[in-house]
Amino acid sequence: MERISAFRGTQLRCKGWRQEALLRMLENVLENGENQKDLVVYAALGKAARNWEAYHAIVDTLLNIEEDETLVIQSGKPIGILKTHAFAPLVIMANCNIVGKWATSDHFYDLQEKGLIMWGGLTAAAWQYIGSQGVIQGTYEIFAAIAKKHFDDSLIGKFILTAGLGGMGGAQPLAGVMVGAAILVVEIDEARVDKRIADGYLQRKTEDIDEALRWIKEATAKGESVSVGLVGNAADIYPELVKRNITPDIVTDQTSAHDLLYGYIPADYSPEDVKRVRENNPIKLKQDAQSSIALEVAAMLTFKKRGAIVFDNGNNIRTQAYQYGVKNAFEIDIFTEAYLRPLFSRAIGPFRWVALTGESNDIKTIDNYILEHFKENNIATNWISLANKYVPFQGLPARIGWFGHGERTRLALAVNEMVRTGILSGPIAFSRDHLDAGAMTHPNIMTERMKDGSDTISDWPLLNAMLSCSSMADLTAIHSGGGGYSGYMTSAGITLVADGTPEADIRLKHALDNDTSLGVLRYADAGYEESLDEIEKKGIRHIQL
Ligand code: NAD
Repeated sequence: MERISAFRGTQLRCKGWRQEALLRMLENVLENGENQKDLVVYAALGKAARNWEAYHAIVDTLLNIEEDETLVIQSGKPIGILKTHAFAPLVIMANCNIVGKWATSDHFYDLQEKGLIMWGGLTAAAWQYIGSQGVIQGTYEIFAAIAKKHFDDSLIGKFILTAGLGGMGGAQPLAGVMVGAAILVVEIDEARVDKRIADGYLQRKTEDIDEALRWIKEATAKGESVSVGLVGNAADIYPELVKRNITPDIVTDQTSAHDLLYGYIPADYSPEDVKRVRENNPIKLKQDAQSSIALEVAAMLTFKKRGAIVFDNGNNIRTQAYQYGVKNAFEIDIFTEAYLRPLFSRAIGPFRWVALTGESNDIKTIDNYILEHFKENNIATNWISLANKYVPFQGLPARIGWFGHGERTRLALAVNEMVRTGILSGPIAFSRDHLDAGAMTHPNIMTERMKDGSDTISDWPLLNAMLSCSSMADLTAIHSGGGGYSGYMTSAGITLVADGTPEADIRLKHALDNDTSLGVLRYADAGYEESLDEIEKKGIRHIQL
């Protein structure tokens, strides 16, 4: 079969730009994905569509759907086309939602085996994935917050140890270089190391731990940045560093530890071994993965004891270790609570935009607009300057930018105007990660240790999705799963198309304002001072009881 990539240019295949935009976003997640043959985009099993038959049916529908119709998708499979109205979403979807008691990994794998369900990650099934860039600013902001809190605002001369060079983990080496550090990333699959080098996200590769450590030592001594991919297993390398009495300054991990069957690769296994043992003895594979995770987390805890800054980077590695008996696994901080919550409390989060014609100059034009018109926003201008210099495009040119309430709308309306007047070559799609203020409940990632103890309440992402539909988003998605697909998470996704029309102005204004309003209100409800301040400053209508 021919490899799928996103259609480029200004020619339409669909009946309007909104439909064409969503089709290109779907094609783009596959173009950027880790394993197109199996429709897998990232995070071990995060898929774009249930199977190829479902994919082709979705494509056919998007080619033919009218402006005033809505395509309904259930776990990556198109179910029907319903008559709605021209301001209703063109696509609504619910992916991987299983009711509480039955939301276990094993039940998920059973349903998957029967072809009834699909894990969509956050942005895979919702067609919002933009390659490793999607999390790069998040990783950069974490490192920057660590620098501020623990290292006198600079990571120059510091050593970061991490693992995993997959779809999302692949952002780590570049983020490390962007903060000026020396970063060592352990990755068992050499092909992934090669891919990150080819994509421009990683600088060096070695299979030799001594060589890797020498490169890191030389760079830290000279205060130079470097990124090194070490082909090896984190369950071996982390304990080996402990044994050698080497303590990095910062330690984390972004392997797919949330999944013991398709994600984390146990020590002494090759990726091929995993496939074989999964077929023949899945129970053994799970046990081996968990015992390796336990070894790795034990090493992370030792690094912490020795003074390193250690954090969980959103892959549920602590939970897996805890369930295997590492009872102090939760002494490791979660990145959201430790470093990003002050931003989320103001609904400042991972907003993103995609140039649908494939024209990279459109992204550069928007970069320049931000540098000129958002001078008061240091986070945005600092990031855009850096991204311009360091971040290569993958698939349709795109940019991530952490913006907050009001700013997202201001930017999107300005972009819609640039589409209208022909300054940009064509429409732009706006979206965000589901890991955003009002859009995700995950008690071991996004909502751990909330001030009011509301960590597990998933009303918020559900409200977010309903609000997104009633605020005229072009696509709304509700996802669950996470943490071994076992009911750890509920999240909501949103996509909007700036096609230059006055109707897009209305959609963008309502949907983006309401999305971030709910984010601020969620944190205000939990008692965060920053949110109350934001409410006051930005005139968000809050009912305080
Ligand atoms: P992926 O499946 O594309 O890549 C995981 C990589 O880890 C693979 O390359 C694999 O070979 C490697 N790996 C597995 N076990 C290993 C081991 N023992 N030692 C060394 N390498 C090993 O996944 P991804 O998209 O990169 O996501 C990774 C994890 O991060 C997932 O659990 C995902 O849910 C989580 N995630 C977190 C955030 C966040 O906001 N912090 C965002 C996205 C994803």
